[in-house]
Amino acid sequence: MTDTDNQAAAMAASYGELIAGLRQTFESGRTRPIAWRREQLAGLVQFLVAHEDELIEALRTDLGKPPFEAYGTDIGVVRMHIRDISRKLDRWMKPDRVFPGLLSLPGTAEVIKEPLGVVLVIAPWNYPVQLLLEPVAAALAAGNCVVAKPSELAPATASVLARHLHRFVDPDAVALVEGGVPETTALLENRFDHVFFTGSTAVGRVVMAAAAKHLTPVTLELGGKSPTIVAADADLAVAARRITWAKFMNAGQTCIAPDYLLVERSVRDELVDRIQGAIREFYGTDPKVTADLGRIVNERHHDRLTRLVSGSGGVVCGGDHDRSTRYLAPTIVLDPDVDSGLMSEEIFGPVLPVLAIDSVEDAIAFVNDRDKPLALYVYTRSKETADRVLARTSSGGACVNHSVMHILPENLPFGGVGPSGMGAYHGKAGFDVFSHHKSVLRKPTFLDPKLLYPPYALWKAKIMRAVFR
Ligand code: NAD
Repeated sequence: MTDTDNQAAAMAASYGELIAGLRQTFESGRTRPIAWRREQLAGLVQFLVAHEDELIEALRTDLGKPPFEAYGTDIGVVRMHIRDISRKLDRWMKPDRVFPGLLSLPGTAEVIKEPLGVVLVIAPWNYPVQLLLEPVAAALAAGNCVVAKPSELAPATASVLARHLHRFVDPDAVALVEGGVPETTALLENRFDHVFFTGSTAVGRVVMAAAAKHLTPVTLELGGKSPTIVAADADLAVAARRITWAKFMNAGQTCIAPDYLLVERSVRDELVDRIQGAIREFYGTDPKVTADLGRIVNERHHDRLTRLVSGSGGVVCGGDHDRSTRYLAPTIVLDPDVDSGLMSEEIFGPVLPVLAIDSVEDAIAFVNDRDKPLALYVYTRSKETADRVLARTSSGGACVNHSVMHILPENLPFGGVGPSGMGAYHGKAGFDVFSHHKSVLRKPTFLDPKLLYPPYALWKAKIMRAVFR
């Protein structure tokens, strides 16, 4: 073994000890009562309240996040969702009574929700608080112990979490592990009862393969290119504002941001004009100086994005950038080559390709020719058109006449499909991801017909055949 192998093995072993400690907590039974679960949820909210200013500052350091976005998308929304979980938890924890069927009478049947054990949550850097704490909250609500791994690419935020979170939750049940690829690889050498991963499709494959060695189930919240279809009958003024807001929020580094637009040709120019107008309205004539536009997470991603833009020709607005401050202006690219990097990779930055299409039918065909996206947006005044798009395409989630907002309602499960992910969470869906649904049949003993038991007489077989058909 090389030195690197030895170090990796030692790291995996030390995480093994950490996980064994969490497992002991789980096996003690103390994570099961609703009071413990609610305490942890309240602790998460208290952490968000007590360290709000520090988190907002860290999000600015990591991503240049405007405080409005930092609170709205990384702190406030999590607080709101956690409070909702806590309110509804007693209902979700109750066994679901079901009718056992005539053949199982007398008897009762129910589905019991039991915690899984020790789970691993791996988060990305773009919403580094939300995407770590929402699944952690769901896991704790379901009575599990958790290893939480924030992204190394949002180090200021990870450091706030690492320094303070443990004081607000049961430290024997929640462990925060900082680190990047080597640390996550070492964690995944160990057996968990569930792995909840949010990140890229490529790393999702690595995580799933590692989990498969232990036959550990996974939830994969992945990425992809989320299309936006704009029909000729759309309210273009509203569409332009909503698309601009959703695309350039967090400098386009949003998993469900509209990746590209497919616009009916007759309204393409008007929509592009209106989007340019919305960019000016939101970010001023020089977006570099506004405090309301985020920055690219690091130079590597900045280089990747500027390369995508420079290789694509039809830039109609934006395109200017500054590597030293990781700034990239809100950029619109008209009719890029569909085989270009811009149209084949997830963009994950403030660059909006706009493609003219001849009809909504063509847009549906375009979407169906590619991987199933995480989200799809359709702007139209016609219910028939919206329904047709929804019925004929597959995506993790969708909005009609808005973008990204389907992440907000607690009662809508959030997740991908195919290459954009498997499984979903938020609200009850999150509780269910981290619970085993155990089917239980309870039978009385006063009736014990001999029908089931050998010797298998002919009359018994006749009855069985009459019933089981
Ligand atoms: P990423 O896949 O590079 O990293 C995600 C996490 O995995 C990080 O914690 C990282 O440390 C870890 N990791 C990276 N490489 C690894 C490896 N080889 N083995 C084990 N762990 C590894 O993703 P990212 O760059 O942080 O985030 C961007 C991606 O995440 C985009 O594709 C985006 O669409 C997606 N995303 C999806 C959602 C969603 O809810 N579906 C939300 C946010 C981001």
